[in-house]
Amino acid sequence: MAEIPDRYDPSAVEPRWYSEWEQRGYFTADPASPKKPFSIVIPPPNVTGTLHLGHALNNTLQDILIRYKRMDGWNALWVPGTDHAGIAVHVILDRQFDAEGTTRHEIGREAFLARAWKWKEESGGTIIGQLKRLGASCDWTRLRFTLDEGLMRAVREAFVRLHEAGLIYRDDYIVNWCPRCQTVLSDLEVEREERDAEFVYIKYGPLTIGTVRPETKLGDTGIAVHPRDRRYRKYVGQTLEIPSVQGSISIKVVADAAVDPKFGTGVIKVTPGHDPVDFEIGRRHNLPVRSVIGFDGRMTALAGKYAGMDRFECRARIVEDMKTLGLIDRIEPYRHAVGVCYRCKTVVEPLVSKQWYVNVKPLAEVAVKAVRSRRMRIIPRGWSKTYFHWMNNIRPWCISRQLWWGHRIPAWHCDADGSVHVSRTDLSSCPQCGGRLRQDPDVLDTWFSSGLWPFSTLGWPDETADLKTFYPTSVLVTGYDILSFWVARMAMLGLHLMGDVPFRDVYLNTLVRDAEGQKMSKSKGNVVDPLEVMGRLGTDAFRFTLATLAVSGVRDIRISDERIEGYRNFANKLWNAARLVLANLDGYDARTARKATPSVADRWIRSRLGTTIRSVRKSLDAYRFNDAASAIYQFLWHEFCDWYLEIAKRSLYQTDDPAARAMTQKTLVETLETTLRLLHPFMPFITEEIWQRLPHAGPSIMIAPFPKAGRATQDAAAETEMEAVIGIVSAIRAIRSESRVSPAALVGVTLKPAAGDAARVAAQASLIGALARAAVTVAPDAERAPHSAVAVAGGTEVYVSLEGVVDLAAERARLAKEIERADKDIGFLRGKLGRPDFVARAPADVVEKERGRLAEQETIREKLAASLLALG
Ligand SMILES: [Zn+2]
Ligand SMILES: [Zn+2]
Repeated sequence: MAEIPDRYDPSAVEPRWYSEWEQRGYFTADPASPKKPFSIVIPPPNVTGTLHLGHALNNTLQDILIRYKRMDGWNALWVPGTDHAGIAVHVILDRQFDAEGTTRHEIGREAFLARAWKWKEESGGTIIGQLKRLGASCDWTRLRFTLDEGLMRAVREAFVRLHEAGLIYRDDYIVNWCPRCQTVLSDLEVEREERDAEFVYIKYGPLTIGTVRPETKLGDTGIAVHPRDRRYRKYVGQTLEIPSVQGSISIKVVADAAVDPKFGTGVIKVTPGHDPVDFEIGRRHNLPVRSVIGFDGRMTALAGKYAGMDRFECRARIVEDMKTLGLIDRIEPYRHAVGVCYRCKTVVEPLVSKQWYVNVKPLAEVAVKAVRSRRMRIIPRGWSKTYFHWMNNIRPWCISRQLWWGHRIPAWHCDADGSVHVSRTDLSSCPQCGGRLRQDPDVLDTWFSSGLWPFSTLGWPDETADLKTFYPTSVLVTGYDILSFWVARMAMLGLHLMGDVPFRDVYLNTLVRDAEGQKMSKSKGNVVDPLEVMGRLGTDAFRFTLATLAVSGVRDIRISDERIEGYRNFANKLWNAARLVLANLDGYDARTARKATPSVADRWIRSRLGTTIRSVRKSLDAYRFNDAASAIYQFLWHEFCDWYLEIAKRSLYQTDDPAARAMTQKTLVETLETTLRLLHPFMPFITEEIWQRLPHAGPSIMIAPFPKAGRATQDAAAETEMEAVIGIVSAIRAIRSESRVSPAALVGVTLKPAAGDAARVAAQASLIGALARAAVTVAPDAERAPHSAVAVAGGTEVYVSLEGVVDLAAERARLAKEIERADKDIGFLRGKLGRPDFVARAPADVVEKERGRLAEQETIREKLAASLLALG
C-alpha cells in the first residue's frame, strides 16, 4: 500500500486533484451519452464579483448534487457562467475615469465599451478561479458570459419574438434627467447633497400640503393620503375644486399606502410628471401625467403664464403669487438631501420619457399554472406562496436602462417620421421613408438576459444537441432573495420561448449570517472570507460545514469558525482512521476472507452502513443536505471510528486464523471505501486522496459509483446484539470514569442478563471485556457484591467491582466532600430561585440559566451519591 503522511494537508492535496479531474475531462458532459440527463445552470455570479459566503454555500450545494448524480450514473451537466453586471461595471469604470479627470460622457460610448471589455478580459475572471478552488465541478468547456456572442443573439431573438407577440411595447416612465448634461442618469449616478430649502405649506381647499417644490404644483393631478389616516378619510374618492394661481382647478383625492401619515400634514400633492413616487401613485390610481418642466429645465407651455421660465425662478415667483392670493399657510426652513448630477452637481429633474416594457401578465398566468400543477416544484414549498403573490400582482416590467454596458435594445428610431423598428439584424435606413435611423441608446435590464439563462446557455435559439438533451434543466439552486427578480422571470420566459419550464425543481437555499445572527456586511466587519477559511481549515471542512448548515425551512444560517474547526477535526479523524486501516492491511487478500464467517461486529457495521446509505440518498433526493451530512458524520465518527475500528484492531491483533483476519480486513476496507464514495460529494478532495491508496476499482472516486444499499443489507440480529454490547461497555466506562478508576486498571465485572439473554451476552463477554478493560463473568443468578457499582443496560444488570482498583477510604472522603459542595450550590440556587423578586425582575434568560444550573447540580449530586453507595 502507498505511504500515507501522518497529517492531512489540504493545501497540498486540493489543487492537485482539481486540475487532475479537470484535465481528465470528468466535468465535461456529452449530449450524445445514453445515460439519463441531469443538468443544472449556475446562478451566474457578477463578473465583477469575488467569492463570498453566499456564493460558497450556493455553489457547494450545486456541486454536491451534481457529483452525487454524476457518480450515480446520470449524464450530469453543470453549466457555469458569469453575468455582465451592468451597474457594477459602470461604477468601477466611473471610478477610473474620475481618477483620470474625465467622464464616460466625455470619452463616448464606443471608447467606454472598449474599456469595459478590456476590464472584463483582464480582471473579470477572478470568481471563476475561486469557484475552482471550492471544488465546483462545472463543465468549464461550456463557460458562458451574459454578453458573449451567442447570448447576444439569444437576447435579440427573445426581444424580437416578444415584440412580435405584442408583449413588448413602449410607454412613459419616469427617469432621472440632468438638464445641463442633457442626459438620463441611472440611480447610481445621482448623488445626494444636503441643501437648505423652504418647506412651503400650501392651502389646498380644505387641506394643507407641505412641499419643497412649489413650482411642481402646476403639474399636480391628485392629492394622496394614507388609507388608514382617519383625519382625511372623508375626502378619499372626492374631486375637490381648489383655488390656485391659475384660477380654480379640480383635483381627485386618493388613498395610497406610499404616503407617510406622520410626515408634514400627512397629505401630499401628486405630481406624476416630476416625482418617481408620485409617478407610481399616479399609475396605481390612473392619474394623468402633466409635464410642466421640460428637458431644458424650463417651464413648459402647460405651465401657463410661467412657461419658458427657469424652474427655480418659477419656484420663487409662484410662492410670491400664492402669497398674494392668500394660498400660503406658512413657510418653514428645511434642510434635506437633494439629488444632483454626479458630474455637474445640477439638481436632477425627474422627467417622464418613453421606456420599453414587457407585458408580463399573460406570461405570469402560465408560470403560475406550471407551479400549481407541480410541473415546476418550489422547495421549500412555503416559498410557492411568495411566488404566487408576486405573479398574481405582477405589473408591467420596465426593461430599458440608461446604461452603456449591456444588451443594447434592438430597436431603431427614424427621426424623420417618428417610426420605430425592432429587428434581429442591424438596420441602417428606415423601411418606411428610407431616412437615417439611430439605434435606441438604452440597454436592457440585466434580468432580461439572465431570464433566458437556462436555455440561452444551451445554445438557444439554435436547436442544439445540448438544448435537446439538457432542457428543461433538473434543478435550480439559488437564494430565496431573488425568487421574484430572477426565478419568476426565467419561468415566464422559459415557458413562453421554449414551451416548457426552465427547471423541474427550484431549491431556494438559505442566506448566511455570522454566529450572532447578523447579516454579513463589510461595514460590520463580520465578513467570513471563504478563501481565507479554505486556506486555513481546508476546503472539505468548509464545504461540509455549509452542507450541515443548509437546513430546509430555516431562512438564515449562522456560521462561525468553531463550526468549521469542528469539521476540520472530522476530516482529520477520517484521515487517521484511514491510516489505521492502511496500517493493518499487510498480506490482505480478499479471497482468503471467503473461508471465514463474518463476526457480529462485521455484520453490524455493514448493516449500519446500509442504513446510512439509504438515509443519505433519501435526504439528498429531498434536498435535505444537512440530514445527509449528519448521517455520514454520525456513522463515520460514532460507529465506524468509535466502535468498529476498536473492535477490528483487537481481532486483528488476537487472531491467528488467516481467514478471520482477512474477513476483518475486508470489512475494514470495504466499509471505508464505500463511506468515502458516500462522502465524496461533500468532501471531494480528502476522499479522493484516501480512496486512491485503498484497494479500489476505476481511475477516480469522482466517477466511481455512488453507493447503493437495498433493504437486504439490513441485519437486525447483528444490530440488536451490537447495541447490547455498546450499551454495556458504555455503562462500565461511565462507572469507571465517575469512580475515578485508573484507565490502566482491569476491573471485575459481573453481568446478569435478562431471562433468555444469557447465551447471547455470554457470546460477547470477551469483546465487552476487551472494550471496557474488564474481566467479565456472566452469571444469570448474580447478586450485587459489596463495594461494587451497578448499572442496567438493555435489560442486563452490570456490577462493577471497585475493590482493589479504588482506594475506598480516600474515594469515600472525596465523594463526601464533593456532595457537600454540590449541596451548598444547590442550596444557594434554590434560595435564589425561591426569591419572588429575583424571578420577577431578572431577565427570563438569566432565570432560565440559573434553573439549568440547579438541575445540573442536582444530577451531579445524584451521581455522586450513587458512587458513594457503590463503595459500600
Ligand atoms: Zn449634469
Ligand atoms: Zn422613416
